[in-house]
Amino acid sequence: MLPSLGRELAPEAIPHAAFSQPVKGVGGKTGLWRFQKPTVDRNKCIRCGLCWVFCPDIAISFNEEGYPIIDYDYCKGCGICANECPRNAISMVREE
Ligand code: SF4
Ligand code: SF4
Repeated sequence: MLPSLGRELAPEAIPHAAFSQPVKGVGGKTGLWRFQKPTVDRNKCIRCGLCWVFCPDIAISFNEEGYPIIDYDYCKGCGICANECPRNAISMVREE
């Protein structure tokens, strides 16, 4: 079983690390570029945190239970999180 990377690497767990947060770009909230969005199946998710590690837009955080939350204001729908999830818990769904 994979180590729980998300919890160990969470920004608050690394006091002197520099993490940037998603910010509004010149074109507005960059999530508007998206044509498909990731959705997490909590029945499959093992809360390992790999999706957070690989998201290039820092659009993933965790709820109190340790499940990932997607910030759709900034998620561009690249699908990297879905590709990297070891449990196939993330599905890319076409935007309506
Ligand atoms: S969605 Fe996948 S990669 Fe993300 S925490 Fe859950 S199991 Fe890990
Ligand atoms: S689809 Fe891309 S931008 Fe959106 S949460 Fe996943 S990795 Fe991050």
